[in-house]
Amino acid sequence: MTRPSVRASVDPAAVPRAVREVCAALQADGHGAWVVGGCVRDHLLGRAVSDWDLCTSATPRRVMKLFRRTVPTGIEHGTVTVFHDGEQCEVTTLRGDGAYTDGRRPDTVAFIADLGEDLARRDFTVNAIAYDPIAETLSDPHGGLGDLRLGLLRAVGDPRTRFREDGLRVLRGARFTAALGFDLEAATEAAIPEALDVFGKVSAERVREEWIKALKAHAPSRAFRVMARTGSLAVTLPALDRVASDAEAWERAMAALDTCPLPFTSRLGALLHGVDVKVLDGWFRAGKFSNDERATVLRLVRFHDVTAVEGASDASLRRWLRDVGREAVGDVLDVAGAVRGVGLAELRARVRAELDGGVPLAVNELAVDGNMLMAKLGMKPSRALGATLAGLLEDVLDDPSRNTPDALLDRARARIDAGASG
Ligand code: ATP
Ligand code: MG
Repeated sequence: MTRPSVRASVDPAAVPRAVREVCAALQADGHGAWVVGGCVRDHLLGRAVSDWDLCTSATPRRVMKLFRRTVPTGIEHGTVTVFHDGEQCEVTTLRGDGAYTDGRRPDTVAFIADLGEDLARRDFTVNAIAYDPIAETLSDPHGGLGDLRLGLLRAVGDPRTRFREDGLRVLRGARFTAALGFDLEAATEAAIPEALDVFGKVSAERVREEWIKALKAHAPSRAFRVMARTGSLAVTLPALDRVASDAEAWERAMAALDTCPLPFTSRLGALLHGVDVKVLDGWFRAGKFSNDERATVLRLVRFHDVTAVEGASDASLRRWLRDVGREAVGDVLDVAGAVRGVGLAELRARVRAELDGGVPLAVNELAVDGNMLMAKLGMKPSRALGATLAGLLEDVLDDPSRNTPDALLDRARARIDAGASG
């Protein structure tokens, strides 16, 4: 794979002035201060950096004394948000993690003064590079820059130990292969299967967060292939792992995933289209996806197969639109097209024509409403009133030209007469 050029070091001018000033103030107070982690990695790769995270040998208490406006946003990890010059940046005290006994978080966090020790507890070499914006020097004790050039995701230190310390790293490893377009280094990948019991303790919400980040990547399939290969997919969602055991079905899912446009819910629909809806419902609940996300993806999975709709009559197409819903139909077509590997141009054009034509898809979109039926036809609020409106919608789905007040009132009268005599 050809790699985009990687910078040899951080461009000093790229570090925001406020960030440099915060580092300078910390250093003037006698501490070490660096930018570190994802921001350095992304900048060296020539990617946009959203947050420049700082680390320092100053204690959180000292950081809060030193700057006028601070908020202890993650004080248990030693993180203080500093507001400076209209900007905000996260300043985290250097940490040497204590023992991990449950594979989820270290039992103790020890604040330390040594940058090297802090970098050594980070997960991947490309995430373990620090830059001093005052001295303009890079600290890269684990060869992260070289791995950036190789496009390799390599654990810092012994991968078996690192994955067993913190099971989330198993999934971060998969996610970064997609987010960065990198490959997992062989020994790093080989260490994952031995850490799956630890990975199994990671909360469903944290898994959800990593999945969402992976789904937003340029080629999300990279992450899901890693999960399938290393066994973490079987831990997270066995029903999808069974799809992975069928090479043809899996390739289809991977291709659908990579061609489906955002939002991530559509990509999730493309990925999961072959999985039982009931199973997915439970899985979304366990992962605490929002009700809206769960309903959206389940709808996409339910309606992703449009083969029957393509040849259907206009009336059947309109009934399908009613079932899918106006807001969802664009995403449904995206998923359907991604799964089939086709653009569905003709179906899209028919759908567009129906929607542009203003076809009502629900009772409350008809040219008459319950009040009008009561006023003009002397109906009372009743089941019969609801049934009449539902019948009118069916009439209009068959022939949208009937959607005028006069035509609908006529049909309503005819329906009532027929009901009264029948
Ligand atoms: P992004 O913000 O794009 O998800 P990131 O690398 O900045 O990527 P964060 O979760 O913001 O990831 O973490 C910041 C840094 O903290 C990482 O670059 C890494 O050095 C370290 N880190 C985060 N999570 C872990 C972990 N589970 N184990 C070890 N180090 C970690
Ligand atoms: Mg980050």
